[in-house]
Amino acid sequence: MSSPAVAQHLIAGELVGEAAKERRNPARLDQVAVLSPEGGKAEVEAAIVAAAAAQRSWADTPAPARGAILLRAAQLLRERSDEIAEDLVREEGKTLAEATGEVGRAIGVFQFFGSLGWASTGSIYPSSFPGTTVTTRREPLGVVALITPWNFPIAIPAWKAAPALISGNAVVLKPAELTPMSATHLGRALHDAGLPAGVFNVVHGRGRVVGDALARDRRVAGLSFTGSTAVGLQLQQTLNSRGARVQLEMGGKNGVLVLDDADPRKAAQVVAAGAFSLTGQACTATSRVYVTPGIRQAFLEELTTLASGYTPGDGLDAGTKMGPVVSDSQVERHVSAVQDAVDAGSRLLHGEPRADGLYFAPVVATEVAHDAPLATEEIFGPILAVVDVPDYEAGLAAINDSPYGLTAGICTDSLAYSTDFTNRVEAGVVKVNRPTSGLDLHVPFGGIKDSSSNTFREQGHSATDFYTWEKTIYTGTD
Ligand code: ADP
Repeated sequence: MSSPAVAQHLIAGELVGEAAKERRNPARLDQVAVLSPEGGKAEVEAAIVAAAAAQRSWADTPAPARGAILLRAAQLLRERSDEIAEDLVREEGKTLAEATGEVGRAIGVFQFFGSLGWASTGSIYPSSFPGTTVTTRREPLGVVALITPWNFPIAIPAWKAAPALISGNAVVLKPAELTPMSATHLGRALHDAGLPAGVFNVVHGRGRVVGDALARDRRVAGLSFTGSTAVGLQLQQTLNSRGARVQLEMGGKNGVLVLDDADPRKAAQVVAAGAFSLTGQACTATSRVYVTPGIRQAFLEELTTLASGYTPGDGLDAGTKMGPVVSDSQVERHVSAVQDAVDAGSRLLHGEPRADGLYFAPVVATEVAHDAPLATEEIFGPILAVVDVPDYEAGLAAINDSPYGLTAGICTDSLAYSTDFTNRVEAGVVKVNRPTSGLDLHVPFGGIKDSSSNTFREQGHSATDFYTWEKTIYTGTD
């Protein structure tokens, strides 16, 4: 049995805090995975003061030199990848392959944004005034706060921090309470890569204490949040009330439409991967599937066979394809949602309304009404609601009849249907014959409707827009 990892705050370049709070390994509840400190107002104050003091000289550092530090951090994450991935499995529960992939994502993100140290950050325009040139330049916001969830505990902090830092901002990160160690590893890598003290700070603690204090502080010029819609909308009000910039990525209820002309096996592979990978705990995961009558039986047979391959187990054991659910409260929610669906007349082709500790087998529920809670509410687990639809138009309408709009998919061999679907579906990301989860790091990502603040996209070149504002400079040359 390994001894617990020890998480720390990173404040003003110092790794600090008395690590007393226990986080148990969701795969082995008798083991303490991490000990972490719990910050409060004093830690938030110290981190903001440090960030504000460090930000100007960081912004004045030549961008290629800022990029070199990010590239060095990527290198350190690569060297430490095995240790970070194992700690990630112990605190969050996903499989080692999934965790290693996630650390790889963080590395790629720092490589991408590190290389932007050489990229153009403005434009040059002709002026209508004689002897004058007009240029634009992107300026950092100043001090920015990042509030992140537990489901991608290193990738999400990385894909927010890297564009913030390359743009010349100083950062205070408030990671999720359940996963303090991944953020600590990120802080250590940046610190060891030579990032000046105060430019990147990590404060652990409760959302209502640390997160709320960051949101209210007038020295924080922008806040990027990923998490639940309820908390996101509350933060948006706080930030809007003081005129600060806010970016939200929130819930989803991502649907896939499976049409008669699709290959049933391939469609089942696409849907199973989207629904059950990462224990269904991705905001882009598939949680509802709409099926037309001609493919229904063959598709459901293939899907049930695939679901039975996702037996939950310890993510550190070789061969485990699906890890446990992250917490007691989440697993209780899964069990009651499935029980309610059964009580309302749904049939379970796979899975049950029960768990063994935090191990919860994937659920495939059929005969789910279009407006039933299982088909409309975000549950955030390996639970798939199958809804019958008569044809393409009904399926598209059902997918769009949701307050959410993060990802959506279609399985079809028809170019006409796939083109129409990508045009008309209300989702920020659309996949044709590919799982709704699984994204490239260099392209824009974000949702619409209640899934997003609908302002700025994350990832790729679009990501730096949120962390910068555009200055316009007129220069007379005579
Ligand atoms: P989840 O259900 O995935 O845990 P939450 O929205 O509750 O989603 O949490 C996402 C992040 O938001 C976490 O870091 C959490 O600590 C933080 N958080 C929760 N409540 C608040 C709040 N009232 N103010 C600021 N941050 C919060």
